[in-house]
Amino acid sequence: MNKMSSDKVERGVYKTMAVEDKLNPEDLKKFIKGKYGSGVQVEVFPKQDIKTSDSVEEVEQKRSEALQFDYKPSEIKKYLDRYIIQQDEAKKVLATAICDHYHHIRDLNNSQKLLDYKKQNIVLIGPTGVGKTYLIQNIARLIGVPFVKADATKFSETGYVGGDVEDLVRELVAQADGDVELAQHGIVYLDEIDKIAGSRNLMGRDVSGQGVQRGLLKLMEDTEVPLRSSTDVAGQMQSLLEFQNKGKLERKTVSTRHILFIVSGAFNGLIDIIKKRIGSTQIGFMTEKNMDQEKHDSHLLNLVRSKDFIEFGFEAEFVGRLPVVVHCNPLYEQDLFKILKYSEGSLLKQYKKDFLAYGIDAYFTDDGMLAISEQAVTEQTGARGLMTVCEKAFREYKYQLPDHKEVREFVVTREMIENPIEKLADLLDNPAMYRLRVVEFQLEKFKNQFMEKHGIQLSFTRAALERIAEKTSEISQPVIEFCDTLFKDYQHGLNLLQKVPELGQVEVDVAGIDDPGTAIEHWIRENYKNN
Ligand code: ADP
Repeated sequence: MNKMSSDKVERGVYKTMAVEDKLNPEDLKKFIKGKYGSGVQVEVFPKQDIKTSDSVEEVEQKRSEALQFDYKPSEIKKYLDRYIIQQDEAKKVLATAICDHYHHIRDLNNSQKLLDYKKQNIVLIGPTGVGKTYLIQNIARLIGVPFVKADATKFSETGYVGGDVEDLVRELVAQADGDVELAQHGIVYLDEIDKIAGSRNLMGRDVSGQGVQRGLLKLMEDTEVPLRSSTDVAGQMQSLLEFQNKGKLERKTVSTRHILFIVSGAFNGLIDIIKKRIGSTQIGFMTEKNMDQEKHDSHLLNLVRSKDFIEFGFEAEFVGRLPVVVHCNPLYEQDLFKILKYSEGSLLKQYKKDFLAYGIDAYFTDDGMLAISEQAVTEQTGARGLMTVCEKAFREYKYQLPDHKEVREFVVTREMIENPIEKLADLLDNPAMYRLRVVEFQLEKFKNQFMEKHGIQLSFTRAALERIAEKTSEISQPVIEFCDTLFKDYQHGLNLLQKVPELGQVEVDVAGIDDPGTAIEHWIRENYKNN
């Protein structure tokens, strides 16, 4: 077990770090000075300060779940549907590729034979904020493998590809709580891969991009990455410690053979390359008429070939390692609305929780959510725009509401999103009026439930609304619960009412709230008389 801190020395930056206290500090200092110069300091921390990893049972459990992969593509797709809106085609292709990949590995592990197997590394194309990362994150979570994400541009900036890419693989081990075997089944996700395509210029290809691609190539194929980087002083000293204890150096490596590499990017310009290749006459046949330009272009990505990626600036060998191509579509207003309303990962859940931390209930109307989506779409950052809009709209609410005990709930309407500051002042001026909005909002829900359960369409008068607001405030009861109990004992009457031929809307007035039994009798009489 590693008893040292995981602090490592970044290139050119020296950090203080912890080491096992049974090592002789003098020996260590000598070792470090010889290897790294005098810039690195050593401190000895007591053992209890040093974090140890998960229990053996926990690690075993995670590993066996991941290694006994037993999913069907449709099951993965179904899981993804709970979180990711749209991107159906991407979900299907990804789910299938993931199943192929992990079934191959499982079979290899079980048979212990070297079967002929080509790894299904994936290219994911699509604009920013449309769910590319989110798809892969959710897949990794479902199947229980570690997941690491980085920007490919980072490598070209540092100009030191090999070490950086290897760091990603080591990061997988950290994510897997030190379980090398599990890390060897992990997923590495490289964003902005299109930025390392070598641009064609008069002198040939852009060399830096080419270098990065080469660095990645080896890793994507089948290579052994040392568990401890040569620039990781803590790791190197751990090796020294083991050498002292065991008298030999154990070479520990992580194999990248089964690590799945997914690269992604917006690939601006790729569509023009496809268009040029297939020629304008054919495009008309391959896409539907009346599609808007953006949808039309996104559709063309189905036709992408390896040669288009090469034309884009990738090395043929690099493209060859990425057999699966998936694309995600841009998200429109309605999609953003659905993300807010239906995704299990909806941002609004987070906002509700944030307010609830101060005992405040926030309710979102459909129209309020639509207003958020309309503004978000203009940000042109996909679903990320939702966060931008919400941050702006709710900033002051989050700051001010916790100081106002009289506001325990509020409904988010279109007006609130369009004029947040003004509406916040209104809310603080007249919390009683806003309380009525909350009741109205909850009554809508109750009416739908009632319709489903009893087949009766209710409506409430303003006076009834006010009476409900009054009563539920008095006894601090949620509106739906209050209404449920109101009609609970009159099932027989409701059944009779339901049988009225062509029963229209039934209006609930104050009398219906104060004495529901008599009100139901009255409704039955009136309706049978009219029929
Ligand atoms: P990118 O496509 O740039 O990788 P992400 O997947 O990181 O974008 O999306 C950012 C966030 O937006 C996600 O964490 C998720 O909350 C939300 N999101 C993006 N696309 C979708 C989608 N299609 N369905 C549901 N949520 C989404």
